[in-house]
Amino acid sequence: MNKSLRNAVIAGNWKMNNTRVETTALINELAPLVKGADCEVVVCVPFTNLQTAVELAKGTNIKVGAQNCHFEKNGAYTGEISADMLVEMGVEYVVIGHSERRQYFAETNVTVNKRTKAAIASGLKVLLCVGEMLEDREQGITDELVALQTKIGLLDIDKADLDKIIIAYEPVWAIGTGKTATAEQANEVCTMIRNTVAKIYDQAAADAMTIQYGGSMNAANADELLAKPDVDGGLIGGASLKAADFTAIINAASK
Ligand code: PEP
Repeated sequence: MNKSLRNAVIAGNWKMNNTRVETTALINELAPLVKGADCEVVVCVPFTNLQTAVELAKGTNIKVGAQNCHFEKNGAYTGEISADMLVEMGVEYVVIGHSERRQYFAETNVTVNKRTKAAIASGLKVLLCVGEMLEDREQGITDELVALQTKIGLLDIDKADLDKIIIAYEPVWAIGTGKTATAEQANEVCTMIRNTVAKIYDQAAADAMTIQYGGSMNAANADELLAKPDVDGGLIGGASLKAADFTAIINAASK
């Protein structure tokens, strides 16, 4: 399937950055720069900035995402936020299973799957993150590991709900390190993920799925990465914190 038929999505993952004042400044700077974008533009901001971001994004083509949600609807989960709470605020996207959550907050493939199911049941779109550590790549087990993350991440999810899921391939060794995967490496794993989705569902479902690359994508390397046939967008950390850099990536995806 020609990738131009798929929905290209460029999402910024702000991580634990930006106060509300900084959020206001960044979204106000970004909105006019990306208004002609020919791709979906998403900013995934800290929980405390969601309300501000949703208000500022009204009337623009910027969509707002959160960076996590809990898998239960409500209850005794101190410090957690449910998918329904995000939807009530006007949030449309949520990042699930980011490698920083897997590394530092004991997230597993099973909890990633539970959160993904809860998010789509509440009406959110999910940016489902998968990706290998450096030692996995060195041991030659990238494909097995990422296929397993994909399979468990998508467990018990209906084919009809796949249009609410975007898979973000993010090699952990490339996140925040300045070491980007080569465009060939990125495409190779994105193709493998698409083939995995085809095995679980069917080829049409796999062809329609948006698969992003993430890991030190920036204004200089975005053109090459986004030109690859199985790379349908990007999940962007550091470069999403500067309006000009994020816009350059959005422009590259809009070509
Ligand atoms: C990320 O946080 O998902 C990410 C890709 O970060 P960076 O672009 O900074 O590597």
